[in-house]
Amino acid sequence: MASAPLSPISPTASLADDDVCYTRDMQVSFVKSQAEADNIRSFYFKPAGEFRYTAGQFIELTIPHDKPDSRGTRRWFTLSSSPSQDLLSITTKLNPEGSSFKRALQALEPGAELTMTGPMGDFVLPKLTQTPLIFVAGGIGITPFHSMFQWLADTGEQRPIKFIHAVSSEQEIIFQDTYEKAGIHATIIVKRPSAAWGGERGELNAEMIMGLEAPSDDTLVYVSGPEGLVESLQTALKNAGLKKHQLVGDFFPGYDKI
Ligand SMILES: Cc1cc2nc3c(=O)[nH]c(=O)nc-3n(C[C@H](O)[C@H](O)[C@H](O)COP(=O)(O)OP(=O)(O)OC[C@H]3O[C@@H](n4cnc5c(N)ncnc54)[C@H](O)[C@@H]3O)c2cc1C
Repeated sequence: MASAPLSPISPTASLADDDVCYTRDMQVSFVKSQAEADNIRSFYFKPAGEFRYTAGQFIELTIPHDKPDSRGTRRWFTLSSSPSQDLLSITTKLNPEGSSFKRALQALEPGAELTMTGPMGDFVLPKLTQTPLIFVAGGIGITPFHSMFQWLADTGEQRPIKFIHAVSSEQEIIFQDTYEKAGIHATIIVKRPSAAWGGERGELNAEMIMGLEAPSDDTLVYVSGPEGLVESLQTALKNAGLKKHQLVGDFFPGYDKI
């Protein structure tokens, strides 16, 4: 089993506390999967009953399978779907040398019954709709933001958000339709771009994030992605002058890079 999720640094007072609910385990049935990129796939599930969650929250999914490897049969995933949608989805990277869990996930047949915990976590939109937000995603760390962007697109709610997505190659740019639909201004930075790439290139750093928009005292910066990336960016952002309460983190253990 992956290590327990680290507590996010979070402006708890500004969160919609009523919406951050903890529920009992839920039976879900696998419906379908869909490719987002060559090595990234979304998996869709139908809950057996009412499943209330807030965009950006995560669950733990159990897939019993033969001969599980040392990482076991359970994984945390952010729900990439929005509460405005009927099906629940998770979106994940698939690696040729991946875990037995990911192989079992890919082998699911429609109708397969699984157990999911109730939703957890406070990596969610702040209660005050006018709070300026900077969203920073490292690779697959885009999943909670996708959930929020889908929610904003479906509800028509407007938020002042600047979004930056760091990916290793153009091939891993996903979910553009959703943030465009939500009217979100996005910057994409590609670590190893092709010669044809005309956008930002190289490593994501604090200067680039601070340069998106001079943060005010009430700006919140949400960072989501592999654990090491989130930790190093948050340290750099603090050194660049942001206060601890302005930083909200979502860590994905199990990946060492974007
Ligand atoms: C709050 C939270 C939210 C999360 N949300 C997401 C999300 O939305 N999407 C997402 O993809 N992940 C998410 N994660 C991470 C997720 O739980 C897994 O840790 C991650 O997907 C890696 O999965 P995996 O262990 O099956 O490894 P894989 O994805 O199969 O592989 C990842 C790397 O680990 C190596 N590896 C695989 N198995 C082993 C092994 N047995 N021993 C040693 N090395 C191995 C692989 O070679 C590869 O380099 C989240 C985690 C947390 C805590």
